[in-house]
Amino acid sequence: MSIEIEGVNKFFGDFAALTDINLTIPTGQLTALLGPSGGGKSTLLRVIAGLEEADSGRVTIEGNDATALPVQKRNVGFVFQHYAAFKHLSVRRNIAFGLEIRKRPKAEIAAKVEELLELVHLTQWGDRKPAQLSGGQRQRMALARALAIEPTVLLLDEPFGALDAKVRKELRDWLRRLHDEVHVTTVFVTHDQEEALEVADQIVVINDGKIEQIGSPDDLYDRPASEFVLSFLGPVT
Ligand code: ADP
Ligand code: MG
Repeated sequence: MSIEIEGVNKFFGDFAALTDINLTIPTGQLTALLGPSGGGKSTLLRVIAGLEEADSGRVTIEGNDATALPVQKRNVGFVFQHYAAFKHLSVRRNIAFGLEIRKRPKAEIAAKVEELLELVHLTQWGDRKPAQLSGGQRQRMALARALAIEPTVLLLDEPFGALDAKVRKELRDWLRRLHDEVHVTTVFVTHDQEEALEVADQIVVINDGKIEQIGSPDDLYDRPASEFVLSFLGPVT
């Protein structure tokens, strides 16, 4: 089982943002969508999420035609670069939010929130407001909030893009370890080669709305499929 993307095309007016995208995202793995700005990564992520409708093609999640499912029914967790937290709510309540609107029993919510705080190493910060957290801590809170609903798929769009290099490195290592614990099928968008190479099981290189290569980090290093991939991976420092 997996996410299957078959023959997806997406236009904005006359502009082809995605051209004939065919891709399998294996269940339980961490896939990175990697490529330069404007390449179509976010659009593809939004199509997977159901936030954007493809003009043609199909997306199936675990065998179900996702194209036919409304966003609320897709059970996807999201984290974006500029994470919008509820400023007036504590970290705990922010994490609980998705469960509260789903009317889960109070005791179940409380237990789940404590478990998530521990998972993202924020137990001591649960009663703070998001503004009292560092940028890195806020993104960990965002992850906990996305995981609270026990999503089938976790989608991350440049989640660490706004943070400084040192924190990014810490968070990417942490995300990898977290993923090894929870094994949720994850799609991670980044324009940072190093980030993709260090975090992902599978990398999809996207440029100009087209897939340039799909492979493991080793595949990309050892057998870059095109001049573009070679130059984009460049000298990795
Ligand atoms: P990436 O995430 O790889 O930087 P995007 O998927 O955001 O790229 O955008 C791909 C291309 O599609 C860009 O040229 C962008 O300007 C264009 N685009 C994205 N969203 C829209 C939209 N809603 N309307 C018009 N053009 C868009
Ligand atoms: Mg983007």
